[in-house]
Amino acid sequence: MFQKSFSKILNLFYPHLCLNCDSKLEKNYFYFCKNCLFDFSYIQPNKETTSFAVFEKTTAVDTLVKELKKQRILSITKIAAAFIVIQIFRLKWPSFDIVYPLSSLLRKDHLYYLSKETSLFLKIPMKKKQNLSQKALIVFDVLDIDKIDQIKEKLLFKKVYAIGLCFDVFFDDLDLSL
Ligand SMILES: [Zn+2]
Repeated sequence: MFQKSFSKILNLFYPHLCLNCDSKLEKNYFYFCKNCLFDFSYIQPNKETTSFAVFEKTTAVDTLVKELKKQRILSITKIAAAFIVIQIFRLKWPSFDIVYPLSSLLRKDHLYYLSKETSLFLKIPMKKKQNLSQKALIVFDVLDIDKIDQIKEKLLFKKVYAIGLCFDVFFDDLDLSL
């Protein structure tokens, strides 16, 4: 029992097992094994939309989202933010004035940290202040297609872009003409 929990703790600092399938990681692999990494393939950008996600909802992506929520591996947030930034470049969205965190600044949750890391990568400020003359980016772990338009409507910005790590539905169900 003790041995098991000790190895669990050690694995947090020096991960040698895949977070998703628990198989032993090969040399030069971190957090996810070769097989599970196949689950992380970028969705082909749809240039018309202002709400998009990085990945399809797969079990490995789901594991990444769960780890983000737990916030026990610090670099996980940076890794997720890097994926988000790459997809933003692929989407060729115009530059934003600010990253707007949906979470409260007082109760910092995983979305706060994900927004913060994304703003650091993009070198644009994160501000909890709405401004009708600015373009804002909002960052999600899971992008809920039905909710996102309601949220965007309520925000007082010139334009709001929304990016998520994955969609809340499986890709096949998505109407990409949205
Ligand atoms: Zn794996």
